[in-house]
Amino acid sequence: MSRLQNVTVLGATGTIGVHTLDVIARHPERFRAHALTANSRVEPLFEQCKQFQPAYAVMLDADAAERLRLMLRDAGLSTEVLYGMQALEKVASLPEVDVVMAAIVGAAGLKPAMAAARSGKRVLLANKETLVMSGSLFMEAVREGAATLLPIDSEHNAIFQVLPSKQGKNLTQNGVKRILLTASGGPFRKASHAELVTATPAQALNHPNWVMGPKITIDSATLMNKGLEVIEARWLFNATPDQVDVVVHPQSVIHSMVEYIDGSVLAQLGSPDMRTPIAYALGYPDRLESGVATLDLFKVARLDFEAPDTTRFPCLVLSYEALRRGGTAPAILNAANEIAVQAFLLQKIGFMDIPRMIESVLADANIEDASSLQHVIAADGWARHAAQQWMKASGIELSGMESGIAC
Ligand code: NAD
Ligand code: MG
Repeated sequence: MSRLQNVTVLGATGTIGVHTLDVIARHPERFRAHALTANSRVEPLFEQCKQFQPAYAVMLDADAAERLRLMLRDAGLSTEVLYGMQALEKVASLPEVDVVMAAIVGAAGLKPAMAAARSGKRVLLANKETLVMSGSLFMEAVREGAATLLPIDSEHNAIFQVLPSKQGKNLTQNGVKRILLTASGGPFRKASHAELVTATPAQALNHPNWVMGPKITIDSATLMNKGLEVIEARWLFNATPDQVDVVVHPQSVIHSMVEYIDGSVLAQLGSPDMRTPIAYALGYPDRLESGVATLDLFKVARLDFEAPDTTRFPCLVLSYEALRRGGTAPAILNAANEIAVQAFLLQKIGFMDIPRMIESVLADANIEDASSLQHVIAADGWARHAAQQWMKASGIELSGMESGIAC
């Protein structure tokens, strides 16, 4: 693909969005930012519009869109400003768009990512929640839309890189025994149970190796991020739950591994910088310069491995359980987690209440087939409500919590 590629960046102002634009800016002969989107913060999107001059800018929020429109007009820029979920779906499926970076956080990213898949784009999927909520439907949309799906999550990107380029129907056909998903262990890898009970948002947001948005950073501290990634791997690589194992590797240098039936274990290594998987997916099958620092193995010096502690980090167990239950269970796990993370960040619940709340919501859930997007979205809405009821029943004020359905 040597023609100039039009790229839509969904969630352009987030950590992944900013890294994506950094790589795009290094290759102006290959990529053009055609549409940029953000939730409600106008300033960062305005700055990006000044730099990249996209054809479209989309805000979720109508008032924010109006403010952006005025700012762009005053700056003499012709970027068209749209707003709302339908506009996000539109810029993900415009005929002139070649590549869509799906980097909205949470369930809100589902519909635009689905629109990109259905319209046959090269979909760079950072929004793992899409696959967790609706893995079967999303993979079907990719097939039916003849889209190209490339994983951005560093672990899945690593696995994609070390799997054979010609992939069979499932892992067994590729001679793969299992996938080894690496996890840094997060900021609380060595924390005692008592320390976890009193852990604060500031401590949980202090990730040792990666700079990421707040939601995924909390997910990394609870190991829910790894649980969501186990489910993500199930769909991306057609793996069974037993074929995905988690290995704690505190240095975050090995981004994941694949074990073959002959005993070979292949790994992808690199500095922990998301521009590597982003550049790989943007350029695939070509390799692009990404701005990532050379991996200095002498500085790294050693690579350690540990088994995850599922007593201190029950979110990992809850994720495997939801995956095994199937149907809408992973969507319910995801929605309850989104509410729990929000409540924790607002200091309404404690760190160890996150798994307690999710477990309770899952225990009360009526799991159904995830046979349509409506089913999935209904399950998401039910779980958000159930999680808030759990808080109310525990005497917790809901003020300040986002209400309603996220997707
Ligand atoms: P972030 O919080 O930094 O950015 C989120 C982006 O989504 C922002 O541009 C925000 O404006 C937009 N957004 C938020 N809520 C929205 C809504 N309701 N509607 C429309 N847009 C909305 O998040 P991030 O760290 O960049 O993560 C984005 C996604 O990528 C997540 O799904 C995360 O799990 C995944 N991911 C991130 C990393 C990382 O290193 N940051 C690594 C792997 C996967
Ligand atoms: Mg990851």
